[in-house]
Amino acid sequence: MANNESKPRKDLDESCVFCLIAHNRDEVTTVIKQDQELVCFSDIYPAAPHHYLVVPREHILSCRSLNRRNIDLVERMAKFGKEVLCEQGITDLKDVRLGFHQPPFISVDHLHLHVLAPASQISSYMEYKFTPGTDRFISEEFLRKRLGKVSSPAIKKF
Ligand SMILES: [Zn+2]
Ligand SMILES: [Zn+2]
Repeated sequence: MANNESKPRKDLDESCVFCLIAHNRDEVTTVIKQDQELVCFSDIYPAAPHHYLVVPREHILSCRSLNRRNIDLVERMAKFGKEVLCEQGITDLKDVRLGFHQPPFISVDHLHLHVLAPASQISSYMEYKFTPGTDRFISEEFLRKRLGKVSSPAIKKF
């Protein structure tokens, strides 16, 4: 109980690059926007003129780790991504694509929302990675609907 320092922090995985970015411990990546819960930065392999990633500071593996209690989180991530787009000068919020990769098609094992704009300018050779409704990629909307059907694990009962 006394030795708090040796206790690994539950929300930070030292070997995870997105955790390091989310805790401002990565010197290479520029954080574009952040709040208490979320952090946004540019994708290192942009597939569109604007391509950002929104991650929670907490180390959550992927969209498969979420349940219905996390619908709000997904919603906040999407809102955050749209705010960044507006701040970056995107005015047509219909021509955007927001979504998640699904395991095993994830590059970093830390939940991240891809935010791309304009969607009509997603490069054709990278389009397959960001096509909604495939095994690889799902829209944030689709994820929220799917989570509505995933009951939360009954670990804690108050
Ligand atoms: Zn992480
Ligand atoms: Zn991804």
